[in-house]
Parts: sequence; C-alpha cells; structure tokens
Amino acid sequence: MKNQFITYQHIVRLDQQDPLATKRDAFRLPTEVIYLDGNSLGAMPEAAAERAGELVQQQWSKDLITSWNKHHWIDLPKHVGEKIGRLIGAAPDQVISCDSTSVNLFKVLSCALLLQQAQNPGRSIVLSQSGNFPTDLYMVQGLATLLGEQNCQLKLVADEADIIAGMTPDVAVLLLTQVDFRSGRLLNMQRLTELAHAKGILVIWDLAHSAGALPIELDACQVDFAIGCGYKFLNGGPGAPAFIYAAKRLHNSLSQPLTGWMGHHSPFNFDKQYQKAPGIEQFLTGTPAILSLSVLDAALDVFADVELTQLRQKSLQLSSYFHQLVQQHDCLQSLQLLTPLNEAERGSQLAYQHEDAYALCQALIKQGVIADFRAPNILRLGFTPLYLRFIDMWTAVEILADIVRSQEYTKAEYKLKHKVT
Ligand SMILES: *Cc1c(COP(=O)(O)O)cnc(C)c1O
Repeated sequence: MKNQFITYQHIVRLDQQDPLATKRDAFRLPTEVIYLDGNSLGAMPEAAAERAGELVQQQWSKDLITSWNKHHWIDLPKHVGEKIGRLIGAAPDQVISCDSTSVNLFKVLSCALLLQQAQNPGRSIVLSQSGNFPTDLYMVQGLATLLGEQNCQLKLVADEADIIAGMTPDVAVLLLTQVDFRSGRLLNMQRLTELAHAKGILVIWDLAHSAGALPIELDACQVDFAIGCGYKFLNGGPGAPAFIYAAKRLHNSLSQPLTGWMGHHSPFNFDKQYQKAPGIEQFLTGTPAILSLSVLDAALDVFADVELTQLRQKSLQLSSYFHQLVQQHDCLQSLQLLTPLNEAERGSQLAYQHEDAYALCQALIKQGVIADFRAPNILRLGFTPLYLRFIDMWTAVEILADIVRSQEYTKAEYKLKHKVT
C-alpha cells in the first residue's frame, strides 16, 4: 500500500466496502462540512437531539420532579457509567459519569495519594509528562498547594523512556494521558501500568482522546483509576459530563475529598455525618446535570452495536490515507507530521507542524473543512470512524492543497485570533 499512488476510484471503493458506512446516518451533520474535529467536540447523534426534545417537552416540563423516579434520572450517572464501561474494558460497577474531567481528576488523584500515604508512606511524587494536557498538570499543582509539597509534588518528564526512568521509589502516582492531545501519540497502557505496579506506583490514565476511539482494556491492564471526557469521541454534546473508573478492588479503601450528598451511603436519610456509598457511587458529589447526562446517555447508544476493533481499524485507515494523500501533493511538503506512523503508537488524530498552522486552519474552516489549531504551530485533524467517509479524506486534502498552492491562507483575515482555537 505505501508509496503506491492512491486514486480517486480507490477511495470510492473503500467507502463501498466500509462496514461502518451506515453509521453516518445516525448523526446530524451539515452536508457542506467535512468534520475533522470530533476529537474536540463529537458531532450530534440524532438520538441525542431526540432525547433533548423529550427532556424539555415531556420529562422536565410535564413530569417535573417526579422524573427523578419516573424517568430514572437518579440512576443516570451509574447507567451511563456502565455504557462507557463497555467501551473501556471495565466490568460492571466500576465506572460512573459525573462532573468534568478536571474535577474527576482531583477526586481520583486525592484518593491515590491518600492510599499511598496509608500503605506506602514517604511517596509524594506525581509523575506525568510535560506535554500532558494542561488541566491535568494544573489539577496536580492545585492539590499540591492544598496538601503541601511533602505530600504532593509534580514531576514532569518528556517521553516514554523518561517515564520509565522516572519511576523512582518516591513516586506515588503515575498520571498519563493515553493519547497525547497535541501529537496524537498513543502510549502503551499495559506495559506502563505493569512497570509502575512493579515499583509500587498507582496509575491514573486520562482517556480524553481514546475513549470511544479505540479499544481500551482497563480491567485486563489492572489499571487503578481512569478518567475521561463525554463530549469528545463519545459525542455527548458540549460540556457533557465526564466519567471516572476506579478498580473494584480499591473501592473499600478509598476516600475522595469532594464528599457531597450524592456520594453518601443514603442521601435521602439526610444524616448529619458523611458516610460514603460503598461502590463507585462514592465518586458522586452534587446533583447530576440531568439535561447533559441524559443526552450523553442517548448519544452512547450509537456505539451499542459497534465492534471496537472494527472502529479502530477504520480510524487507522482514515488517518493513514489522509497522510498518504498529503504526501501525494508536492505543495504540502511544508507540513511536518508529528504523529507516529507506527499504528501501535498512533491515536485517532494527525498533527502537522507548520509555521502558519493557525491561518491554514482558519482557511480550511472557511472552505468547510473543520480542523483545529494547537499552539504554537500545530494543525490538528481528528478522525471519527463513525461518521467520516474515505471520500472526506480525499476532499479535505484537495482543499488543503488548494489553500496552500494558491497562498489563500496568507490573507490577513485568517490571522485574526479567536478566543477558542
Ligand atoms: C479535553 C481534555 C480534558 C478536558 O477536561 P475538562 O475538565 O472536560 O475541561 C482533560 N484532559 C485531557 C487529556 C483532555 O484532552
């Protein structure tokens, strides 16, 4: 396949043979748009729109507060958690949907540090990557301020070799994001978790850019904690609730710091004293955002009959064809690929460095190809196998080549910085 010229006919055939082709019908997408940003905000499933309508026209407006029981609002965090659990290799009772990824990280990070203080005193380091998504680093910094340096200290390293070398006896927690938000590099979860455990280190995986994009085996890898987003590859809608995974073997010994009433053993006893719920519900804090959570619940049904290995195969094919098509254009040689081409190290996105990446991205959006920009110089393209076609790869690369060849992107209008990039 490599180095062979890819024809339009070949691309058309790929769509004809694609077992996931009909999944696109489950989404509402503007016809004139090629959406390469589903890794940042997933497209809207039809079922999500229907659920939103049902919530405002029936559940909230007509059934009012009785909906907590009648429409099982109270069970949604757990119910949604189980649906996500299937996508991340978690047996029942270990995943719950609530709050944001940042807040959930605070909870599991505190739990992990307290566990270590009780079982392995003297460990205070949280080991992470300097390129990790900033909120992950900020949350450690905030917790370090609260607990003091002797109990929590962030140590940052660069790549996989440095992570392994950094697993020293003073490390309490290894905090990693499975797919790097900039480069799209995929880390080896099984190997890194195993190495950390052999050194007495607890492991937290951030699945923001991997849940719903590739098969994940949290139980099989014996991961301790994981967190992730509901609005990226899970298509739950803007600001959708996030999720938490905590391995069942740890549930009895955990105490998370945001001890709100929803995580209480019996919230409706209204006891004076906090007593945590026994299972994964202990990670709940306040009243769930039902409008968002219910929409996420409906959105997840899109995955019900999807084979994740098939999803992964198409994701890899989409990014591989995109890059091969880029290579077929002489004018695109100024784009420098940051993402590893090796499939075992590649998530579901491509990142190209270019000194005018921001302007290129804006010009692409103007032409209907939605990508995003990550400072300082990255053009990022996300590949969502549920609703992208191979022909979209062809068209997007043709449009990109036109923009570069014609120097369209050098126009002043594309340099205007927006608040969200
Ligand atoms: C997108 C993303 C987040 C987002 O966190 P929020 O609290 O939902 O804003 C966190 N971590 C990583 C690695 C991300 O890519």
